[in-house]
Amino acid sequence: MERKQFQLGDIVQMKKPHPCGTNEMEVIRMGMDIRIKCVGCKHSVLVPRLKFEKNMKKVLRSAESQTEQQDAGSPE
Ligand SMILES: [Zn+2]
Repeated sequence: MERKQFQLGDIVQMKKPHPCGTNEMEVIRMGMDIRIKCVGCKHSVLVPRLKFEKNMKKVLRSAESQTEQQDAGSPE
């Protein structure tokens, strides 16, 4: 099974949405536990890395690719 790649500052999509209805979270702290912040209500939660990897669906926006493609104005 492929290990999910994510890093600090990434916006990730979770399998289960937050109670506020948003399923996009920003990774704001990395470590043994991952701290993520809900994009919708700004509520932050600390989750064990394993649980986070299980609940994470995919990376929506990578912090790294954002800085690399600052002025890529693709219509798609
Ligand atoms: Zn929320």
